[in-house]
Amino acid sequence: MFKEFSVRSTRSEELIDITGEIQAIVSGTKCQNGICTVFTPHTTAAITINENADPSVVRDFLFGLSQIVPEKGYHHSEGNSPAHIKSSLVGCSEQILIDGGRLCLGTWQGIYLCEFDGPRHRQVFVKVIEAK
Ligand code: ZN
Repeated sequence: MFKEFSVRSTRSEELIDITGEIQAIVSGTKCQNGICTVFTPHTTAAITINENADPSVVRDFLFGLSQIVPEKGYHHSEGNSPAHIKSSLVGCSEQILIDGGRLCLGTWQGIYLCEFDGPRHRQVFVKVIEAK
């Protein structure tokens, strides 16, 4: 089963927790066992799984990426090369196992849409594949 939804970011860079939306889609499929793929079709956004308990982890995630990727010195005329690089470093998809109708996430894990060039509307695609 395939579904999509949109997310509106409000800052130039932010992580938006989409775990609830993904679990709701999985629950709606009635799939008990399988695989859920979460994909975002953008070149300056990404999907990741990380801690959703302490908000400072998200701040530090963005800070750490900014230390890895230089802000200046690029050729791309749009001026958003750091966002393109961060998108590729983090990746545009994640796969999560489904067991008993629930996403198999750890206690502290959440699924995030990573915005690196906002604010924008972003699409998230979700594919649920049943597997015994
Ligand atoms: Zn660009």
